[in-house]
Amino acid sequence: MAEARPPAEASRPDAPVDPTPGRRGAAVRVLALAALLAAPTVVLAPQLAGRPPILPGLPLTWWALAIAFAATESVVMVIQIKREAQTVSLSELPLVLGLCFATPVQLLAGRLIGSLVVLVAVRRSSPLKTTFNLAMYGAETALAAVAFDAIARHDSAASPRLWLAAYVATYLANALSEVALAAVFAVYEGRPRPRTLARDILTTGQPTTAVVVTTALVAATSLSYSPAAAIPLTACALLLLLAYRSYARLADQHLSLERLHGFTRAVSATPEAETLLRNVLSEAKHLLHAEHAEAVFVGTDPGGLARIRLGPTGRLARLEEPVTPADHWLLSQVLHDGRPLLVPRAAKEPQARNWLAAHTLREAVAVPMPGVTGMIGVLIVGDRMGDVRAYDDSDVQLLTTVANHAGLALGSGQLAERLRHDANHDRLTGLPNRPSLQRHLAAALQVLDDGAGPGIAVLLMDLDQFKEVNDALGPEQGDRLLVDVAGRLARFAGPDRYVARLGGDEYAVAAPAGTPDDALHLARQLLQCLEPPFELSGLRVPVRASLGIALAPDHADDVGTLLRLAHQAMYEAKTSGRSLCLYRPGPDGPHPTRLALISDLRSTLEHHALDIHVQPQARLTDDRVIGVEVLARWHHPAHGSVSPDEFIPLAERHGLIPELTAQILDQGLAACRQWRSAGEDLAVAVNLSASSLNDPDLIHLVVDALGRHQIPSTRLTLEVTESSVMTDPARAICVLHQLRDLGIRLSVDDFGTGYSSLSYLKQLPVHEVKIDRAFVGGLGHGGDDLAIVQAIVDLGHHLGLTVVAEGAEDAAAWDLLRTIGCDLVQGWYLSRPMPPDNLLPWLTSRRTNATGPGLR
Ligand code: C2E
Ligand code: CA
Ligand code: CA
Repeated sequence: MAEARPPAEASRPDAPVDPTPGRRGAAVRVLALAALLAAPTVVLAPQLAGRPPILPGLPLTWWALAIAFAATESVVMVIQIKREAQTVSLSELPLVLGLCFATPVQLLAGRLIGSLVVLVAVRRSSPLKTTFNLAMYGAETALAAVAFDAIARHDSAASPRLWLAAYVATYLANALSEVALAAVFAVYEGRPRPRTLARDILTTGQPTTAVVVTTALVAATSLSYSPAAAIPLTACALLLLLAYRSYARLADQHLSLERLHGFTRAVSATPEAETLLRNVLSEAKHLLHAEHAEAVFVGTDPGGLARIRLGPTGRLARLEEPVTPADHWLLSQVLHDGRPLLVPRAAKEPQARNWLAAHTLREAVAVPMPGVTGMIGVLIVGDRMGDVRAYDDSDVQLLTTVANHAGLALGSGQLAERLRHDANHDRLTGLPNRPSLQRHLAAALQVLDDGAGPGIAVLLMDLDQFKEVNDALGPEQGDRLLVDVAGRLARFAGPDRYVARLGGDEYAVAAPAGTPDDALHLARQLLQCLEPPFELSGLRVPVRASLGIALAPDHADDVGTLLRLAHQAMYEAKTSGRSLCLYRPGPDGPHPTRLALISDLRSTLEHHALDIHVQPQARLTDDRVIGVEVLARWHHPAHGSVSPDEFIPLAERHGLIPELTAQILDQGLAACRQWRSAGEDLAVAVNLSASSLNDPDLIHLVVDALGRHQIPSTRLTLEVTESSVMTDPARAICVLHQLRDLGIRLSVDDFGTGYSSLSYLKQLPVHEVKIDRAFVGGLGHGGDDLAIVQAIVDLGHHLGLTVVAEGAEDAAAWDLLRTIGCDLVQGWYLSRPMPPDNLLPWLTSRRTNATGPGLR
């Protein structure tokens, strides 16, 4: 039997809401409806008063019926029919028995008193709702009694007419309640819904109702022969209930898994926050069969909360009511400990009881939503539909999974933004960092190359007594000084000059400068702006700096060299005691310019004189070395070793990459062959450049090299950066597919620093992501890096990728990476890059010592 049960009823998503003061008009109309319903009952009552029970043998008292109605109404069963939860009311059971064995007055009294107890004591319904429901139950019962009496007055328990009477009576009772409920809906919604009403009346005779009525008739027939049949009947009912409960649990788990799977897919595919949130809340509601679902987001301003609820019609509604102390209690419980909270039906804690009462909920589950950089809020569901079972740990676990995915997905829009910002900025001062400066310089040099603009000056500066300040006043004041210096430099630089912090107490300024004099003038101004003492711990602390200058194109015309020469000049300033120094070419003459260097690189490649180093990678689960990354090395006969950061971009600009890649791949696979012959099955990873993905010969080159060295394609990984894929994504993805089809592993290098969005990662046919060393280096030193690395690991695993961390320099980073669940690790802590011939001896000594880096 139906019942008006706000805020949402199982089978009726758009049930009415509780009347509020603003809806007083509606309340009056509901009362009028109640009166209308009660009227026939009052009129019929005297007529029914004298009638005896229809079946003799088992006189049922009003109180026995009241208990039976109360029991069957407080246990609303929910069963799964075609994936939808349907409520099954068992109240037809006492109704049919009452129609058969009790007088109509006893039946009416039992019905009204039993329901009153449930409405007031169990459901805690409002007086208005209680009044309406009682009037409705009264009318239903009276109607059923009159119909049953009219059809079956002189029949026995075994008579088919009596059976028919039972079906007709319960059908009419249910149809009446549908009409009454439809009237209430019309009052609240302001418009009648005749179509819905017609459908509801037609479907009133649900199979479940027929089953309950049939069961009641079987019981009535047995009991009319012998009241002792009550014993086996009760036992049978209990057993069925127990069996149903375990079935319901299993069916629930199965459906939950299926839904969860669909949900994670839907969430990863939804870019828009509002749709995403709606999905999250409705999925949480369905998965936990909840009547209420709500998300609370913690705002940026303290105390600022956004509470969003899924409305009965599936729309999101922002809750505007003031946040109560009970709300604060719940949020602090969940957010502070980061642990889920189950608020059970019979909560003992007064705060829990207050919270439930304030939300008119009987029970709830609240779990934290972890975002990328910390908790973003709390996900709450309340009131399991039907009372077959209350929320338990399995529900908590389910909701936690939903919240984890939701948090990550909701945060990933900002995540991409954050990753990008953090990769390019120094966390302490907010200034651009070294990679940003390098990019800025590369762009400026390109403009120079094209014959436009004046020259460029790079001013590199480092504070003279920073260590002393740090030691004397403490690291907090040291940080403060670094931030204050950054502030002055940024103000001095204005929009035309570029200021970066390179690490420690080292800063750089890049500025347009036509002549060395321009540059020196600028440098003096810059030092002047640092002259006023800094306020630290109430002291006025004077700070001196040493500054080195290098110019493009006079001293160098590539980024690497320019920075190196500026550094050299700064070093000279420091050691000579002068505050500033312009780079002076040494006795060897000027550093080779790019033009000279490129012809040297070309001839080095012609003579196959480029070298490789290899850097091991280990698996974090067992510290086993499983492969190496192959890195190009160039030893210049006159200038010593030149960094790949210097000569790779050069090779890229002069079309030497195909040749370079071929030689590095060849050497890497040759080394791999030697290790294999010595019984070491190690994988090798080789770097590709952006242009490699446009090289029509790449596939042939790779297949040829694998064949010559007899290396299975699965042992080769090719590393590409996100940005190289982004230059021509369609073409790149096509080449990557071909490589993948050959069995070659693919890895996204420097992940987190690129410009592409995380969503692109899903479309790349790759096996692996390598977290950039900018994030890994900062692990174990506090800050956001841990959260970012954790998010990349989770995201990578979510997409089925292996996650590699590079640049692990110490044990702290190594241990954290293991805890986070990262798969592979590479970095100085394990080993610096080394000549390939050193690898086997290194492996051997690592094994024999068994205490080497990374081994415990
Ligand atoms: P990459 O691919 O990100 O290579 C990793 C770099 O990190 C290497 O620098 C390696 O020496 C360095 N590294 C490894 N562990 C640590 C650590 O714990 N801390 C720190 N701070 N650094 C670590 P390297 O060898 O100077 O290479 C620089 C870049 O040059 C490479 O970055 C790669 O982009 C490029 N490169 C190197 N060899 C090749 C090559 O054969 N082909 C192409 N196309 N590019 C190459
Ligand atoms: Ca790499
Ligand atoms: Ca890398």
